[in-house]
Amino acid sequence: MIRSIATVSIGGALDEKLRTIAAAGFDAVEIFENDFTSFDGSARDVARMCADLGLRICALQPFRDFEGMPEPQRKQAFRRAEKKFDLMGELGTDLLLVCSNVSPLALGGIDRAAEDFREMGERAAARGLRVGFEALAWGRYVNDYRDAWEIVRRANHPAIGIILDSFHALAPRFPVGPIATIPADRIFLVQLADAPQLDLDVLSWSRHFRCFPGQGNLPVGDFMRAIDATGYKGALSLEIFNDQFRAQSTKEVALDGMRSLLLLAGERALHDRTKVCGVAFVEFAVDPTHAAPLAALLRRLGFRLTGRHRSKAVERWSQGAINLLINSSQDSFARSHYVTHGSGVCAIALEVDDVAAMMSRADALQAAGFRQPVGTGEMTIPAIRGVGGSLLYFLEPMSPNWDIDFVAVASEGEPGTLGEVDHISQSMRFEEMLSWEQFYAGLFDVQRAPQLEIADPLGLVKSQVLQNRSGSLRLVLNASTATQTMSSRFLSEFFGAGVQHIAFTCDDIFKTVSAMRAAGASFLDIPDNYYADLDSRYELDPGLLGSMKENAILYDRDDDGEFFQVYTHAFEERFFFEIVQRRGYKGFGAPNAGIRLAAQTREARPRTMPRIG
Ligand code: MG
Ligand code: MG
Repeated sequence: MIRSIATVSIGGALDEKLRTIAAAGFDAVEIFENDFTSFDGSARDVARMCADLGLRICALQPFRDFEGMPEPQRKQAFRRAEKKFDLMGELGTDLLLVCSNVSPLALGGIDRAAEDFREMGERAAARGLRVGFEALAWGRYVNDYRDAWEIVRRANHPAIGIILDSFHALAPRFPVGPIATIPADRIFLVQLADAPQLDLDVLSWSRHFRCFPGQGNLPVGDFMRAIDATGYKGALSLEIFNDQFRAQSTKEVALDGMRSLLLLAGERALHDRTKVCGVAFVEFAVDPTHAAPLAALLRRLGFRLTGRHRSKAVERWSQGAINLLINSSQDSFARSHYVTHGSGVCAIALEVDDVAAMMSRADALQAAGFRQPVGTGEMTIPAIRGVGGSLLYFLEPMSPNWDIDFVAVASEGEPGTLGEVDHISQSMRFEEMLSWEQFYAGLFDVQRAPQLEIADPLGLVKSQVLQNRSGSLRLVLNASTATQTMSSRFLSEFFGAGVQHIAFTCDDIFKTVSAMRAAGASFLDIPDNYYADLDSRYELDPGLLGSMKENAILYDRDDDGEFFQVYTHAFEERFFFEIVQRRGYKGFGAPNAGIRLAAQTREARPRTMPRIG
């Protein structure tokens, strides 16, 4: 596979783009002409730079409004083409991308277009160059790749071929089957892009919302299978127009692009996704002054101190199958996490079927590995970097035990009735969401639920659920573009992306919550109006409704079953816990999220308002 990307896909000046693209491991680039025109350097400089970086220039693009022009525009178009051929000579690329004509002057007519391309082919061949024709979904006469192919076929010139772009075929819902009948040697380039399903004119959709394969809803896999069927072995080139991508860290975007290609076309080279069996432990980084208050909160929630690390200031608190570590050591990864992020989750350990397979897949997808010095006799746990600089540890369920580093603490009373981690919710910048979605979906066998939009009193929060079939791994990603939403404040005021809350399961939420209250726990206040509305919607048993109201328990119901949930107050304004009881219900209480966000907004310290004058 020749892995390529169009320079338009990422932000920065051309030289910066090329360095980033090479660093992410691409073999080739398409030079987007605007990037060259605005660049302060010659074509030969660009050629040299690419050669030094080991990048081949697989195409110069786009050449617009060519086929089917009347005179004098036709003659002008050929003159323009000759100039671009000169430029291609200096850049050292042999392929020019011509996209279908959108000019109101265009005359249409398949034979007329074929004739123009035959002449173009003659001129290109005289210089050892080639020209590829791409149907834009909004082309004036040619907007379907099947028509573009017919024109290329009739042009019948070895220097003229077709360029296939997944977006232009899939967005208008053209069948992809006919691609398989195009001879591979007539396909000069394959461009790949995905997009979310939007009800938008195809031009705006393409110019602003394209994303990497797998990040959107278009069946790019079907498109790829049709390409594979032709035997095409040329470059697969990502061509993404997305303002958000160009505004992001170029390095991250290029890496996401490389991952999408590996996942789409390199699946065979990757290790199969290993099964995630559950969450072994969640580690909190705090400073010594916050270790005791966090421990006290956990104790009120029914956790018991079950272990102390033999060499570091780390405590293990347990209940049911849940293990939480409080790490306040001064010379560890947790410390540096605390310094940059404040109190919060610095690591999540997942139990997976095959750690070696997991790490090999992570490595192939260029996930950043992590090692830290360990004391004598301590075990190293394979880890990679996750959201907000936190770590994801991988452990096999049985061997060897991760808690050999802990000295057991004699039981100090019965633990509570929580069962296991139900889900972990993470906040991130809006621009990062697609990237982390791809990260998780690339590593784990998780399905993406449809994205939800939740009203926050101060804006909108987007929420994306990723979960595996067994429910042993459930992740909820939240992001907001509005700066004052709780989701955003967790980021901007409370030190960056990371775990926002962890939900635990129980069998009887009323019993569990009442024990927690008896131990001094208190929960997020829910207004009476909520319960009046619940009653109107569900005609609940008055006794049940009364105890929900008394205990600030939220409720939801769907075709699968019923759901109860309750939230703690936020710890240090940074994270909180949720307790859930599922009765067949598979969702996350989305209808209640707005109620929860409003309650948290009331509890949060006043917003910092911009000062005037
Ligand atoms: Mg294209
Ligand atoms: Mg939740």
